[in-house]
Amino acid sequence: MDYSIHLAKKFKKPLVIFESVLMDFEWSSPRLHQFILEGICDTAEEASRVGFTYWPFIETKEHSLSEILPFILEKASVVVTDDFPCFFLPEHAEKLAGILNCKLLLVDSNSITPLASYEKSFGYARVLRPKLHDRFVESYVHRSNPKPSPKGIPSSDTLKKLKFLFSGKKEDISSYLQKMSSKLPNILPVLGKTGGRKEGLKLLKKFLKEGLPFYSEERSEPRPPERVRSSSLSPYLHFGMISVEEVVTAVLQSDPKIDWSPDILNHSYRGKNEGFFHPNPNINSFLDELLTWRELGYLLFYKDPSFRKDLSILPNWAKLTLEAHKGDKREYTYTKEEFEKAITHDPIWNAAQKELVLTGTIQNYLRMLWGKKIIEWSSSPEEAFRILEDLNHKYAYDGRDPNSYTGILWCFGAFDRPWSPERAVFGNIRYMSSDSTSKKFKLKPYLEYIRSLEGMSELRLFR
Ligand SMILES: Cc1cc2nc3c(=O)[nH]c(=O)nc-3n(C[C@H](O)[C@H](O)[C@H](O)COP(=O)(O)OP(=O)(O)OC[C@H]3O[C@@H](n4cnc5c(N)ncnc54)[C@H](O)[C@@H]3O)c2cc1C
Repeated sequence: MDYSIHLAKKFKKPLVIFESVLMDFEWSSPRLHQFILEGICDTAEEASRVGFTYWPFIETKEHSLSEILPFILEKASVVVTDDFPCFFLPEHAEKLAGILNCKLLLVDSNSITPLASYEKSFGYARVLRPKLHDRFVESYVHRSNPKPSPKGIPSSDTLKKLKFLFSGKKEDISSYLQKMSSKLPNILPVLGKTGGRKEGLKLLKKFLKEGLPFYSEERSEPRPPERVRSSSLSPYLHFGMISVEEVVTAVLQSDPKIDWSPDILNHSYRGKNEGFFHPNPNINSFLDELLTWRELGYLLFYKDPSFRKDLSILPNWAKLTLEAHKGDKREYTYTKEEFEKAITHDPIWNAAQKELVLTGTIQNYLRMLWGKKIIEWSSSPEEAFRILEDLNHKYAYDGRDPNSYTGILWCFGAFDRPWSPERAVFGNIRYMSSDSTSKKFKLKPYLEYIRSLEGMSELRLFR
């Protein structure tokens, strides 16, 4: 937005914000479509309040994007879009560049530090961390304008408005959902889960008050959603409904005892996961996830944009140890359908899988256990990877993201080190067990919450 506004003012051209939603992308479903459309309604309201021209287009069975794109682009002097490095977006940017008569500019607004400023991607958080810390001050100072204004941009009133634009009104969402097709029509929206900027900001506010003050100690604790200590922001970050920059700013300025400015950074902690950003350990712990761990995956894609990553990116030690244990006897094996239906012998694993299906999210610690157990109970690492990728992307609101691959591939040893003792199936890959999880945490309230979901008449594991 910032850069488009700059160009519109500089070259005295009207600015049109065009947002399109495709129907049939991989893993598309009414669950995802509704979340995205709710986001569009918030953007439409805000654009009209501030005075920007916003044209949202939703692809339906009647009108495809390719049908209307030429009308949009014929008058464009320049097109500015996001440089998102994963899923179908890199391929779409390539295609768009091929049909435009003007320049296409991709702006990297993926995180706070520009991903292009790193010479390569990194296999370990400890290698990325000092480099990220080095770049932080300059990036922080150059954050985008939090209140973009159309003042000084020529009016777009003379432009011929497209037909078939979405009204941006919440009451029209359901009729649009009916006109859209999707790859997974049975994956329905989760009741009470709302997409959009307003909800993202609401969650951020709640997190600053109720989650952040306990984050470093209690983030991993599986709990019912009203009592979790993590932010629940991942779907909003994924769909760009809230930005990393504004979350970082809000978090750094959240401690009333400290008037934060870059002078507070403690450079003697450069490269460490604590102490660098803030004297408050909860803030450091959260920013290490939001910046270091998130950027690891984003950089992996940014340096080699692609739809997905797979086991080929694992470090050599992980590939060798998985290969050496490929033929090991598995105590249990399940098919994808059995995993999906949450009918394994393990009640904790089943609860995490049910949380994913019924609510579109899994608590972070259980997500790691969930992934590790699919490796342990699948016939091969390749099969486990396929199941993990599919279940994660199919049900999770935050799926189809570079973080999805960081998380899934971490379960196979990526970004991690070899662990002893060497075990069946896993070899030297870090092992996790449901037994130790139940000793580490008080799981009763979480398990009761999952049972209560199953009991709700409007929620079913499969419809
Ligand atoms: C098997 C597996 C699959 C995963 N799939 C996804 C996915 O599809 N999409 C996704 O966003 N995350 C994924 N993760 C990472 C992590 O589980 C989620 O980012 C986190 O639980 C989101 O909850 P939150 O927003 O409350 O996180 P918070 O703890 O509040 O953290 C704030 C933000 O920091 C980032 N973050 C936090 N933890 C991690 C992490 N370990 N790695 C990378 N970034 C992180 C996320 O953007 C998150 O929203 C996966 C992890 C595993 C083990």
